Amino acid sequence: MAENKIPYKIYLEEDEMPKAWYNVRADMKNKPAPLLNPGTHQPMTAEELGAVFCDELVAQELDNDNAYIEIPQEIRDFYKMYRPSPLVRAYCLEEKLQTPAKIYYKFEGNNTSGSHKLNSAIAQAYYAKKQGLKGVTTETGAGQWGTALSMACSYFDLDCKVYMVKVSYEQKPFRREVMRVYGASVTPSPSMTTDIGKKINAELPGTTGSLGCAISEAVEAATKNPGYRYVLGSVLNQVLLHQSVIGLETKAALDKYGIKPDIIIGCAGGGSNLGGLISPFMGEKLRCEADYEIIAVEPASCPSFTRGTFAYDFCDTGMVCPLAKMYTLGSDFIPSANHAGGLRYHGMSPVLSQLYDDGLMKAITVKQTEVFEAAEQFARVEGILPAPESSHAIKAAIDEALKCKETGEEKTIVFGLTGTGYFDMVAYEKFHDGEMDDYIPTDDELAKYAAKLPEID
Ligand SMILES: *Cc1c(COP(=O)(O)O)cnc(C)c1O
Repeated sequence: MAENKIPYKIYLEEDEMPKAWYNVRADMKNKPAPLLNPGTHQPMTAEELGAVFCDELVAQELDNDNAYIEIPQEIRDFYKMYRPSPLVRAYCLEEKLQTPAKIYYKFEGNNTSGSHKLNSAIAQAYYAKKQGLKGVTTETGAGQWGTALSMACSYFDLDCKVYMVKVSYEQKPFRREVMRVYGASVTPSPSMTTDIGKKINAELPGTTGSLGCAISEAVEAATKNPGYRYVLGSVLNQVLLHQSVIGLETKAALDKYGIKPDIIIGCAGGGSNLGGLISPFMGEKLRCEADYEIIAVEPASCPSFTRGTFAYDFCDTGMVCPLAKMYTLGSDFIPSANHAGGLRYHGMSPVLSQLYDDGLMKAITVKQTEVFEAAEQFARVEGILPAPESSHAIKAAIDEALKCKETGEEKTIVFGLTGTGYFDMVAYEKFHDGEMDDYIPTDDELAKYAAKLPEID
């Protein structure tokens, strides 16, 4: 069978790696809505954005027209240390499931930070360095983004201040220490080092923090410290642009063997890995050159796409950031404390939100215990210990493969395996000890947050 000629791992040669990122916005008929100034509700100008973000990144954020943006040589050199990442044919999982489906996964966990986040971290650090800045500030939840950014900053000799959601800071000391290995300073959020942190601590004594709150602190720290800018690891257009390297490599590897996927699956927190993975495929879809079924997978406990509202909302709890039009649960929505599986951001990338609203992709939710079941099933046959976030995509891919088993269809399924789960053993422990539940917010709860969305005319 020709089939057998497909290797377990498809790697690209160095000269087959992308030299430009692909900007899917260029091919979108309905562009994502612009970011708005939270005070005036007018579209943010490049000048206003430049007070918070690096200049070159502002240009990328606002660029809805150029389909390809060259990847600077310095970034390509760094990518070479851990890219191309392998596209793996999950022969063992297929065998285990006894499915006629062909399953591939793009594995982004092969770097010290353990996830795809390094792809954008290195780009953002590069542009900050090029602008002559002293350093950058950011937030991190579970710690993957902070780790990736610390690595990128140490490579370019930039200072890195990370506000880490307090609950993770306490529960994930190892992530914190990795960041410090790379020279970052890590502050638990909400902290007493910013005005917004003090305010949140006063209003919600004992709070264990949230991403939205840590973002507010990091933005404040960037605007108050001369020579600093704020960087963000997901949601923004520029981050999806950088992550397109995932999709471009995937497409190049599949093309090399003449494989056309039927279904493309990714987990969705803020949308960066999914947006990056699907970009070139979505481009073909938008240009009517090919069709693919694209599935976003989100946790049932933080269902932005499937139960959120498509509206302008704040990106942060402190309401200091620009407003973004996105699928959102409301900026002060915090998933249940029992939710251990990541992907806990209240909003979704404006690019993906628009594509979803236009019916170009679908979204499903999965419950966290079934996510961990899928994670273990995968770990036992494929040999990789997956991150809980990535395991949302695994769960959906397994379900699609099992559907093929029933119908006998030989579909080709590609999913994004965004990272490894070595720092998530507390979550795995909860799962093993039967202490993990599947809390799903009620309609009333969600309505309470939705009612607080800002009114924009
Ligand atoms: C951050 C992260 C995600 C979710 O973020 P997106 O921006 O939605 O991609 C998924 N998987 C891993 C391993 C992560 O670290």
